[in-house]
Amino acid sequence: MDGKRVYLETMGCQMNVLDSELVLGMLRALGYEPVDDHAEADLVLLNTCSVRRHAEDKVYSRLGEIARAGPGRPGRIIGVIGCMAERDHAGLLARAPFVDLLCGPGRLDQLPALIAEVHGGRRPAVALERDGAGGAPPSRRTPVARRTLEPDGIEALDMSRRPAVDRPAIQAYVRVQRGCDKFCTFCVVPYTRGPERSRPPANIVEEVRRLVDAGVREITLLGQTVNSYCCEENGRTVRFADLLERVHAVPGYDRLRFVTSYPGDFDDDIFHAMRSLPRVCGYLHIPAQSGSDAVLRRMRRQYTAAQYLELVHRARELVPGISLAGDFIVGFCGETEEDHAATLALVERVAYKSLFMFMYSPRPDTVADRRLPDDVPADVKRRRHAELAALQRRMSLRHHRAFIGRQVEVLVEGYSKAARRARNADRPGPRASWPRPDQLTGRTRGDEIVVFDGDPSLIGRTVRLAIDEATALTLHGRLIDPPVAPGPVT
Ligand code: SF4
Repeated sequence: MDGKRVYLETMGCQMNVLDSELVLGMLRALGYEPVDDHAEADLVLLNTCSVRRHAEDKVYSRLGEIARAGPGRPGRIIGVIGCMAERDHAGLLARAPFVDLLCGPGRLDQLPALIAEVHGGRRPAVALERDGAGGAPPSRRTPVARRTLEPDGIEALDMSRRPAVDRPAIQAYVRVQRGCDKFCTFCVVPYTRGPERSRPPANIVEEVRRLVDAGVREITLLGQTVNSYCCEENGRTVRFADLLERVHAVPGYDRLRFVTSYPGDFDDDIFHAMRSLPRVCGYLHIPAQSGSDAVLRRMRRQYTAAQYLELVHRARELVPGISLAGDFIVGFCGETEEDHAATLALVERVAYKSLFMFMYSPRPDTVADRRLPDDVPADVKRRRHAELAALQRRMSLRHHRAFIGRQVEVLVEGYSKAARRARNADRPGPRASWPRPDQLTGRTRGDEIVVFDGDPSLIGRTVRLAIDEATALTLHGRLIDPPVAPGPVT
């Protein structure tokens, strides 16, 4: 396979971003070089998302563009990997019969074998978690703590990571679990990523150690319900707070984060760990989805709005200064104006730093799709979405303005978006109004984005900034000398 080229496009969540990084690493080891143009590739892969209909429509539209662009290089393989391959492989093959391979997120370790199958003339080559080939996932009846990922299956993909070669970076995601057991009625994830299974803690710590040795300064632990992490090790149950402690003990890096948390599974041990372990950042992404108990019940979210608010109260009490981000779905089945007003009221009370908000669209196979009518008209969904967005803009602006006049510690990630545009210098427009190309961006420990003028040598370092201005999206800062020295905070 020497000299082959791969084009890999990623849609969807951080899990997919991580999967794509691991897949690229695996393909590099097979001699593939990544390229930015699918027309130059021998292997074209779309890593797909099924969470919303719009995301799946986008995959079909990209496949159409790729097909229309012509046959490409001789023997080119087109593959669809990720959640959409797992959810609807038959539909994909019917609408895009030119697809050569399909691989679900739980079978990505089998990608080299699938490529070999296609080269051997067998197409489409398919590997899905639901077909049980390569070992069926453990049953949901197995206690969560005993559902540890086995070393020779998909776990081998995570452990194959070679950070120094594959992607030297400042920040890195590290998976701690796969799948989800919650079965929220709107969500397709339990069907595409299977039951909740945890990675052995020793593997997670080993991966973090390798990433830190390669220069990574910030680790983000990833799971669909990351705080539910639970694994049996030598007869002892390791919970998420224990895992935080063990990852925190790896020397040589600055920051430790985790996403996404499930509100119903929080215990105070996690907040105590956040408070006592200095690398753990005071930031929590904790989706509420709705402020109405009736809607939460229909979503099967396993908590009430009052319990969610109590959780927020405990978070703020036990981790002073914590920043919160949330997710909301507007226009879920049966959502009334009163339900929507309850969501707005909850958002106002929590005062999130930022929100991810979506208009409900039914996903095939989910309980909501089978049993609940999608009865909120599209224009009402749009209006409620706009109202929620307007409220959050005000809340974000208020949150950010509270930083003016304060000093913050920022991990410098790179050039700001505007500076990257200016550096590329290929866009029309009044160049004089563009920022200087050395405008940098980074994040506070609470995940607030800050832009400031600085020397590019600061990228990857932690600096102290004075905040002078704020918008709803961004803080504007000024360097305070001397920069905080790179290295561990303890
Ligand atoms: S907790 Fe609910 S929304 Fe989150 S991944 Fe699991 S089923 Fe989906």
